[in-house]
Amino acid sequence: MSRPLVICDCDEVLLHFVGPFGDYLAAQHDLTLNLESFALSGNIRRADGTAVEPENFLPLLNGFFDTHMPTQTPSPGAADALAALAKDCDVVILTNVDDRHNTVRTNELARLGMPYRVVTNNGPKGRPVRALMDEYGATKGAFVDDLPPHHGSVKRAAPEVFRLHMVADPRLHALIPASRDADARVDDWPSALPILQAALGVTR
Ligand SMILES: [Mg+2]
Repeated sequence: MSRPLVICDCDEVLLHFVGPFGDYLAAQHDLTLNLESFALSGNIRRADGTAVEPENFLPLLNGFFDTHMPTQTPSPGAADALAALAKDCDVVILTNVDDRHNTVRTNELARLGMPYRVVTNNGPKGRPVRALMDEYGATKGAFVDDLPPHHGSVKRAAPEVFRLHMVADPRLHALIPASRDADARVDDWPSALPILQAALGVTR
């Protein structure tokens, strides 16, 4: 019988993102990342106060991932929680970064105590979650992500998967309301672990 499958996002779930990305924008591009609303591309400003145009966002994001992934630090308790889950479950990291960033992301997560398979994706996560559930032959699954649209996408494509909405950075908690498509909203790993274990039937 197959083991339950945990499918977990990386940025702002396992690793801090807005903090290191903001530091990168300031240090490398003399730009400021404001966290007054959760719309990254409109919240990057130059020293003169003008906003960086949307078409310039992706190059900045990829520039960060090209050179500054090692500046991303783990969310407290993330490695311990995944290690506990991995005793009973298969664990896959499903992350929306370019395929070329897969190796560095895999190595960085392993360096930080999270030595799991990394699947890179572009766009909604419902289809890749469905594919992973089918690939592993899993009858029970859990999905963890900070972005509400992904929970809706997974709900439609893989409704049997338990969906936990987590936003690691406290500055974003109030900016990202609980997803209506998630089964739970918890913003820290020590609290998330027993919820996931119960949902997956692996409570110890
Ligand atoms: Mg994320």
